[in-house]
Amino acid sequence: MCGVFGAYSKTDCVAEEVYLGLMALQHRGQESAGVAWIDGCGRVNVAKGMGLVHEALDQDSLSKTNVTSAIGHVRYSTAGGSMIQNAQPICANYAQGPVAIAHNGNLTNLSDLRSSLENKGAIFQSTSDTEAILHLVAHQPDKRPLDALLGALERVRGAFSLVVLLEDGVVAARDPWGFRPLVLGKRDGNYYISSESCAFSLIGATLVRDIEPGEVLLINENGLTSYRLDSKADRGWLCSFEFVYLARPDSVIEGKSVYKARQEMGRKLARDAGGEGCHVKGDSGAADFVAYLPDSGTTAAIGYAEESGIPFAAAVVRNRYVGRTFIQPTQRVRELGVRIKLSPSQDLFAGHRAILVDDSLVRGTTAGLVVSMIRECNAKELHLRISSPPVRYPCYYGIDTPSRGDLAAAKQSLDDIAASIGADSLSYLSKDEMIEAIGLPGDRLCTACFDGCYLDGPAKRMACASCGNS
Ligand code: SF4
Repeated sequence: MCGVFGAYSKTDCVAEEVYLGLMALQHRGQESAGVAWIDGCGRVNVAKGMGLVHEALDQDSLSKTNVTSAIGHVRYSTAGGSMIQNAQPICANYAQGPVAIAHNGNLTNLSDLRSSLENKGAIFQSTSDTEAILHLVAHQPDKRPLDALLGALERVRGAFSLVVLLEDGVVAARDPWGFRPLVLGKRDGNYYISSESCAFSLIGATLVRDIEPGEVLLINENGLTSYRLDSKADRGWLCSFEFVYLARPDSVIEGKSVYKARQEMGRKLARDAGGEGCHVKGDSGAADFVAYLPDSGTTAAIGYAEESGIPFAAAVVRNRYVGRTFIQPTQRVRELGVRIKLSPSQDLFAGHRAILVDDSLVRGTTAGLVVSMIRECNAKELHLRISSPPVRYPCYYGIDTPSRGDLAAAKQSLDDIAASIGADSLSYLSKDEMIEAIGLPGDRLCTACFDGCYLDGPAKRMACASCGNS
């Protein structure tokens, strides 16, 4: 998962706004950050570094960078390792001019593209799939950069939400299937492109619309010019996991509030939990309170508490200065991170029956450690409720879910998961209920990590084009 941001103005300097936009997208990637712009000599420049936005980039220097268009990126590696060579935007000054690309998503035909390009002499500087797009552009030196970009995007398959900087202007592009969100915002005469609408409020911009699947939008002194990729998609594949976990709750994706979707997921989960929604399975009385795993389980837990009438309690406290465990690169760091990050309240849990709501259960690592910490608090009962369906399949479209062998629900029954985690009971939301809660038709959403239904069919269950994971 990554975040991209771009800004175009006729008059204002925008590099610092891109920095601020990236800060609002920090939840989408914490490994590296970068900002690119074209200087007065027509050369692309980039500032990038490892770590959080404020560690990787110098805000003061960007605030003094006198450019009216710029793009940026925050990265969490899904294709290619966590190293500075893979930090984005990826930039080049090629035969037709400067180009910088910031990419969210994973290409599924990368190995074919890469061998075809290497056979034509391309030398890759990174292991990131985004570099393949750059080479595809550079291998069409007879075309204007925008036409070369359109030609390149016709050849790639899988998930891409891009912001691209050319001498022609700032370009936003979204794959024909619409896997990852990408939105257009505006403030006065300035235009902004962002992975999520939450970044617009920080800079005083308002959401105009989503970039449509298959749309390539050029923003320059002539205003907005929209192009269409020839590739056709017979249905949409917007990532349902954006609504479950990935996106910020104050974002709106394809007209749907992420907050309301999560709240409704929690409500539906409570309705499932027993007739009137206020009794947990296997228990004759109501639980004493509904707790949540901060922060991503919070909104669903609010919906659960509202629907069930069971009091809501912030019984698990989060250390705000530690990042998300899901996007830490190794199991050891993830496990240590959970103890550092989350702390159950002994006073609240001791002798009480609690419902613990989380948004998803992937490996089961976080849930298992938190349940064992809550057991140490002498909780009487602990019932785990997951506001999404069981994750049984890997994602090949830009999310770092592990291979099938490491997915708890792919290798164990739900009863076995509950037992191994140490919960008294465990239940999930069904796929249909999740889709209803999002409020978009099922044929506009990707649910592959829940049901194994991939864009390219069952073959894609066998091996990931970029990492070989199955
Ligand atoms: S497989 Fe899952 S995480 Fe990946 S794009 Fe589809 S819904 Fe999203």
